[in-house]
Formats: sequence, structure tokens, C-alpha cells
Amino acid sequence: MIEMEHFSKRIAEIRHRVEKACERAGRSPDEVNIVAVTKYVDTEITNQVMNAGCLHIGESRVQQAVPKWKQLGDRGTWHFIGHLQRNKAKDIVGRFEYLHALESLQLAAELDKRCAALSTKIKCFIQVNVSGEKTKFGISPAELNDFAGSMANFSHIELAGLMTMAPNTPDREEVRPVFRELRHLQKELQRQQFAVPHLSMGMSQDFEVAIEEGATFVRLGSILVGTSS
Ligand SMILES: *Cc1c(COP(=O)(O)O)cnc(C)c1O
Repeated sequence: MIEMEHFSKRIAEIRHRVEKACERAGRSPDEVNIVAVTKYVDTEITNQVMNAGCLHIGESRVQQAVPKWKQLGDRGTWHFIGHLQRNKAKDIVGRFEYLHALESLQLAAELDKRCAALSTKIKCFIQVNVSGEKTKFGISPAELNDFAGSMANFSHIELAGLMTMAPNTPDREEVRPVFRELRHLQKELQRQQFAVPHLSMGMSQDFEVAIEEGATFVRLGSILVGTSS
């Protein structure tokens, strides 16, 4: 059994690295939210992570996320970070405050309908496949303008910002242009008066580069929470 102290120590180490990355970029660490990705661990470990002070919790599978939320969801802010099938939207709405991987208008319509029925809202990041890898979800940068424009049709969806996943490589300089491009896309949208305040980018392997390039939400699993119970 992993001790809470162990998480406190890890969190402190990661916060320190976040601060250093912010310093390099001339940013305030207050701008960076750490989402603890608990998808690899069970409810008890997730509870310990929350007790240690991580209150942004990220899950990526409905089947695991919902039972956890039922036990722990009375506190914290819950982020659904994975690919969400349309028929599962109803399980997330009213529970998860954020969805990080919106990439189809059909899903948006379903979320909007489910939110309306519960008189609630959901904050969504549009997932953009900046790297263009075939294995990655997300809309293409070329589709982004129209997609963001369509969001006006969904009054129960609040646009949180943009999300991307960089190529899975330990080479930090290979991922940097991907993060930089997402920032550029955000600025383009902002120039057109779209409200897209946040950038969800950066995982265990590359969060420092993502912060240097403007991330406001980093999603940390293995490095922060670990990968097994
Ligand atoms: C699993 C996952 C993460 C966390 O990955 P780590 O490399 O373990 O930090 C972040 N974002 C998404 C979308 C994920 O699926």
C-alpha cells in the first residue's frame, strides 16, 4: 500500500518542476492546473491522491470513472480526458465538469442535449490533432475554425479551450512545435473573438515543454499517481 506521504512528496516534486518551467517561460505557476490522471489506479489510491491535495482528477474510461466518481465525486473537480463515445455522454454529464477530448459535432449535440435535460453545463476542450498522426483522435487544424463556430449552437457547452497530444517520444524538442502550434491556433481563435481561455497539453513525459509553450492544464498520470495499485 502506497502511503499518502509518498503522494505528498511526489506532488511537491512535480509542483517544483512546474515552477521551474514557469520561471523559464516567465509565467506564473498559478496559471497552471495539474490534473492527476488516476486511470491506472483504483478508488482507494485515487482517494489518497485527493487526500494529498490533488483535487483535479482525470479519468479516461467511463466504466472505471463512474464507479470512482460515485464514491469520491462529492469533492474535487472531475475531468474526462479520454475519447468519449456518444452513447456514454449521459454517464459523464452532471458528474464531470470538464471534457478534454471533444472532436465531433455529434458528440457535442448529445452532450448539449443531456446537459439541457439536467439544467447543467459541461466545459469542453476541442481536441486538435496537431501532429497529424493517424493513431490520434482530434479534428485537424484546418477544421478548427468551423468547429469552434459551431459551438455557438450548443448553449450548454462552454468552450474551455484546446487540447492536444504530442507524439509519444522522449525527445522534448520534437514535441515542442506541436504545443507551439496549439498555442498559435488558440491565438488565431482569440483574434476572432472566440473565448478559448485554456490549453490542455502536456503529460508525464513532456509537461515541462508544454508549460514553456503555454499549457494551463497538464494531465499527469504515471509520474504523479503511478501506474498500478
Ligand atoms: C493517460 C493519459 C494521460 C496521462 O498519461 P501519463 O503519460 O501517464 O502522464 C494524459 N492524457 C490523456 C488523454 C491520457 O489518456
